[in-house]
Amino acid sequence: MCICINCKWVDRCKTYHDVEENHEVSHLTSSPDITAKNPFIHVSLVEESKGEFTIEWDVRSCSSYYEELGRWSKLRPGLEIPA
Ligand code: SF4
Repeated sequence: MCICINCKWVDRCKTYHDVEENHEVSHLTSSPDITAKNPFIHVSLVEESKGEFTIEWDVRSCSSYYEELGRWSKLRPGLEIPA
């Protein structure tokens, strides 16, 4: 799970913006203005069905992480959190 969903900067962060791009989900903002320090992104291949793969991009650690539990859900109440 991407730690960004519980980060105060999720709707302003350029790295999370890239993660959204890679997951092909809609952006929280069109103009991110925060550059994360030392984000570690874990990339994995996930088999959706036989022979069909998707790529998962998850930020696992980040020096700029500022915990705000449920930040993503507060911004998009009722929506499923992007995997
Ligand atoms: S944890 Fe880092 S990469 Fe993720 S939203 Fe926060 S600042 Fe950006």
